[in-house]
Amino acid sequence: MSRFDEFLVANETFAAEFTVGDLPMPPARKVAVVACMDARLHPEKALGIAIGDAHVIRNAGGRVQDAIRSLVISQRLLGTNEIVVLHHTDCGMLTFSNDDLAAKVQADLGVDVSGQDFYPFPDLEQSVRDDIAYLRESPLIAQDIPISGAIYDVTTGKVHEVVRA
Ligand SMILES: [Zn+2]
Repeated sequence: MSRFDEFLVANETFAAEFTVGDLPMPPARKVAVVACMDARLHPEKALGIAIGDAHVIRNAGGRVQDAIRSLVISQRLLGTNEIVVLHHTDCGMLTFSNDDLAAKVQADLGVDVSGQDFYPFPDLEQSVRDDIAYLRESPLIAQDIPISGAIYDVTTGKVHEVVRA
């Protein structure tokens, strides 16, 4: 049985208990969360986000440069007017450099990605500050909305605020 088969089985239970099929498309709480894809982080559970509440945009590191396309759609077309950036302790993005990854891609796949930025970072708190600054400086993000950055601790489940802009 593949993981996909397992998921289909699990979904039978989920769908059998599903009661929220009449929600509107725009998120009820008008917020977009940019979070890392780390498997130990469940932003919805950690932040009390219910189905229909928020856009949760995930990628490696929860980097906003990667999320801009989705944020523009979220904010301009679907009514969100606040952004929260959520990085986390023990992030994989702390463990490699662009050169390291380029060497691995070259070795494994024979593809040259040297010069490409995969947005790794050496300092967790600074990565949050950098992402908030990036959003604040982006002409694609309205500058009158709250933008906050925080770190989730994978060992305690706690979120602590890093910056509020
Ligand atoms: Zn991570």
